[in-house]
Amino acid sequence: MSVLENIKESILASNSIVILTHENPDGDAVGSSLAMMLALKKIGKKVDVVIPSLNKMYDILPGYEDIKKYAEENDNYDLCIALDSADLERLHSCKEVFEKAENTIVIDHHITNQNFGDVNYVNAAASSTCQNLVVVIGYLDIAISKDIAMCLYTGILTDTGGFRYNVQIETFEIAAMLLETGIDIAKIYRNFFDLTTMARTKVLGKALDRLELLSNGKVAFTYITKEDEEKYDLMDGDHEGIVNYGRDIENVEVSIFVRQIDEKYKVSMRSNEYLDVSLIASKYGGGGHMKAAGLTSNMSFDLLKQTLVAEIEKQLK
Ligand code: 5GP
Ligand code: MN
Repeated sequence: MSVLENIKESILASNSIVILTHENPDGDAVGSSLAMMLALKKIGKKVDVVIPSLNKMYDILPGYEDIKKYAEENDNYDLCIALDSADLERLHSCKEVFEKAENTIVIDHHITNQNFGDVNYVNAAASSTCQNLVVVIGYLDIAISKDIAMCLYTGILTDTGGFRYNVQIETFEIAAMLLETGIDIAKIYRNFFDLTTMARTKVLGKALDRLELLSNGKVAFTYITKEDEEKYDLMDGDHEGIVNYGRDIENVEVSIFVRQIDEKYKVSMRSNEYLDVSLIASKYGGGGHMKAAGLTSNMSFDLLKQTLVAEIEKQLK
């Protein structure tokens, strides 16, 4: 049986389904979760989406109000579907929900995916998990409504940085098909790329103030501290995009952005042309894509900075 047949059989045999995604969820994570929920509700399934913490910028997406913060204590799900998550650890506090479910499906587009489900649909050649989901929803014979299309388009738009990176011919074909449902693409673009808050703008200012160039100007580095987080009362997702400012400086190949979470550091890395940041992230317990990767580390701030810069220098031309 093909993977898609396995997915169909597993979904049709289940009544109670839970959908999970990675922590610090981005547009592809939230978009794919809501699109899957809306699609499965159309065929009469009981579906929960559990996301413990997410930015309120996602409130324009259909189904947002139905997102649960926690799985109910006594909810026993027949099936758990993990979306946009390369490994079990990425599910973070929802890991147990996944482990408790009778059957599991993983749908993703990360090259570093560990195939940790009973059935795994991992196509790393796709721009986004949402792009892969179009294929899955199509195979299930579920029509893509305007609401589902809005969620899917959001994931594709945000994961490709506005149709810039990792775009295939199918990405535009699928976008055209989604546009046919009548979605307002200008509204979606403004919501996820332009619209901001005072807190986000202030913290960006802090990060820009600290931005420095290392390794002969090839590496840009900046960070925000726990004190900044508290001062500006930041939410998950409020840091998205800060790493791009360093990457956009002329001659920079890699941009690093570090944020402090409790006693740990969460690192975001972006490269411009040739350097594979996913190799560095994977080496220190993280993962991602060639030009966008991340990790969480227990190292001290100084050692972490030194280690990352040394790893990058090994690859610099
Ligand atoms: P970001 O820097 O936006 O948090 O993440 C960039 C890319 O790296 C995303 O594709 C994300 O899934 C991946 N990524 C970020 N942090 C981690 C991590 O701790 N583990 C893994 N496996 N992937 C990560
Ligand atoms: Mn993604």
